[in-house]
Order: sequence, then C-alpha cells, then structure tokens
Amino acid sequence: MSTSDAAQIQAGDTPAPGAPAATTPAPRPRPALSRLPRYVAGQPPVVVEGLTPYKLSSNENPFGPVPAVREAIAGWDAVHRYPETTSAELREVVGEHLGVPPEDVVTGAGSLGALNQLLGAFVGTAADGTPDEVVHAWRSFEAYPISIGLSGGRGVPVPNRRDGSHDLEAMAAAVTDRTKVVLLCTPNNPTGPSLTTAQVEEFLAAVPRDVVVVVDEAYQEFQRRDDLVDGIETYRRHANVVVLRTFSKAHGLAGLRIGYSVAGQGITPYLRQAAPAFSVTDLAQRAAIASLRHIDQVAERVQRVVDERVRVLAGLEDLGWPHPETQANFVWLDLGEHSGRFAELCDTHALSVRRFGDEGVRVTFGEPEANTRFLELCARFPHPPVL
Ligand code: PMP
Repeated sequence: MSTSDAAQIQAGDTPAPGAPAATTPAPRPRPALSRLPRYVAGQPPVVVEGLTPYKLSSNENPFGPVPAVREAIAGWDAVHRYPETTSAELREVVGEHLGVPPEDVVTGAGSLGALNQLLGAFVGTAADGTPDEVVHAWRSFEAYPISIGLSGGRGVPVPNRRDGSHDLEAMAAAVTDRTKVVLLCTPNNPTGPSLTTAQVEEFLAAVPRDVVVVVDEAYQEFQRRDDLVDGIETYRRHANVVVLRTFSKAHGLAGLRIGYSVAGQGITPYLRQAAPAFSVTDLAQRAAIASLRHIDQVAERVQRVVDERVRVLAGLEDLGWPHPETQANFVWLDLGEHSGRFAELCDTHALSVRRFGDEGVRVTFGEPEANTRFLELCARFPHPPVL
C-alpha cells in the first residue's frame, strides 16, 4: 500500500470492498456502550392523503405553550451570548411557585439533563472497581438504563407488578450496600400508574438514608387523585429525596429542553458541580419564566388534556379494553404480540403511537380529533389488550 493509500484509510473508515482488512488502530468507545440499549424516540405520523396527521408517540402537550411564551422568546436576539449559568431568575420564580428556597432548585437541559447531573454526581465505581448500583422499576422511562450505563453504574431493574405499578417491596429488597440511587417514576412512563404518599413513605422508611431516592414527576401536573405522592412535600421531610420536574409536558416546552431538580442542601451543591456549563439556554429560561407567570393558562391547557383523558378512558371502557390506571397524559395498552399490528393500523390512519416491541403500545392523549380517531381504530381492532 502506498503512503497516499494509507493516508486515505482513516481510523474508523470502512475499507473499500476487496481491500485488505485495515490494521490501522481505530478509536474504541468504552465497553459499556455496546451494552446500552438505544433510545427510540417517538416517530412522527405517516402522511396519509385526506387525513390530518397526529403525533401521539412522545407524550407531548398537543396545545403547545401559553401565548406569553411565544412573546417572551420572539424578540430574542442575544444568541451570540452564553447563557447565565445558574438560572438565578428562573430559580427564584420556581422557588416562589413551589414554596421552596431557590437554592434547592438546580436546572438542567430537560429533567433528563437534571437526572444525568444527579447520576454524574452520585454514581460511578466503588474504590474496589465494582460499579455502583441504581435500582429502578422496569418497564419505566427508557432513558434510565442508558443514563445509568453512561454514568459507569449498573442498573438493577425490578419488574413492575402485573398492573404496571412499581413493585416497591421488591425494589426495597433490591437495595444493597452498593446501591447509590433509586429511581421512582410517578406516574410511571410508559405504563401509567402513580405512587401514593403512603407507599413512598413506607418505601423511604425501608431504605438507608444515604441512598438518594429520586422521585421523577415529569407528569405531575396531570394527576387528579388526592392520595398521590407530592415529591415537594416528600423532599421537605427527607434529606435523601430528589424531585425531578420538567417544562416539557404540562408547559409544552419539550423542544427547548428545560427541567429541574429540587433537593436539600446536602445534595444540591453536588448536582451543581456535575452540571455541564451552559446546558440551559437563556431562551429556555425566559420561556419557563413566562410560562410560570401565566400558570393559570397552563393549568387550563392541562385540564383540557385531563378532560380528554377522561373521555378516552371512558371510550376504552365501553369497548372492553382494559388498561393500567393512568393519571398521566398517556395510556398503556398491553397488546403483547399484537402490538405491531395495532401500531401499523394507526400508521395507516396518520396516527403515530409508541410501540414497545411485543410488550405493548403507549398512546399519548392528543388533540380531540386524534383521540376520537384512536378510539375508532381500537373499536376496529380484533385483539383487545390484556391486563
Ligand atoms: N422522566 C420521565 C418519566 C419522562 O417520561 C421524560 C420524558 N419522556 C423525562 C423524564 C424527560 O423529560 P425532559 O428531559 O424532556 O424533561
């Protein structure tokens, strides 16, 4: 091989057909990467002539943000400046909104960013090289195993109960002296059930106080039952609790990537230390502030989604379609081996839903017309889910 040929084979290039196998060393990622599942984002709907397409695959807010958000970001022209790194003004407004000290709030690029900050701060390998453990329910938010694996830790997934709820007894039993963090997801994405205050208090009493317990409340605003856990009340009582909240769902700001954690002073300084600099843009901060300042309008939009939830769940009941209880903006259909056929049926009618292999399908409550079409498709589908 001439030197010019050799120069053309860059590390990582695929050799041309028939060329000798490249012996040039190629960059290799951490072994953990090959074991990580890939994140499958909800797909946009297929375009079908004559039908308005609807995306019911990503648990987004179909009504978008309140008008004040659009006004707040419309004239933004400081894109050449780095953002303010501490989100000071937003943390003041969040603090006022929740009745918590602003210094307990740490913002992130979405609540997923806030979670990654937490894992970066608390999870890695022990002094003897063994990975730290993170206990979480499964199925749950599909980013968990990826974020845990990237942190260097080992995920300990605990199967949900048959009704899609966390098996808290089994989760408490899975905690060992290697466990650094437990993730509670309430309501649980993608299955739906929420945890009650009593369940979480009992769980916290069974878990050592040096284990960080995360209460991921991405869908908190859509809940309507009085007995459900309120992460903010819980963090006030327990120094090892971290609450995750987001502007992506109720506030309709998923595309701007902004969320936050709330935790006590025994935890927040580490979260701040682990936060990548400048990951939360000023644009997102302005939007979040505008949304919180118009919280009544946000609440109206959330209520429209909740009203649609009530209507869709009643429709499913009429059809005899069972589902786990949901206080979120989505419903889980345990369609098993029929999941693919149901997702295809939705595709051919310009609705995108989120299929999870041969386990089931998650459907977001969307615009009223989308929900009506979804119910019509359920009525035509010959294999109802099981529970
Ligand atoms: N937690 C849960 C349970 C979620 O479902 C999601 C989004 N799908 C997130 C966290 C992350 O949301 P974001 O990063 O947009 O705030």
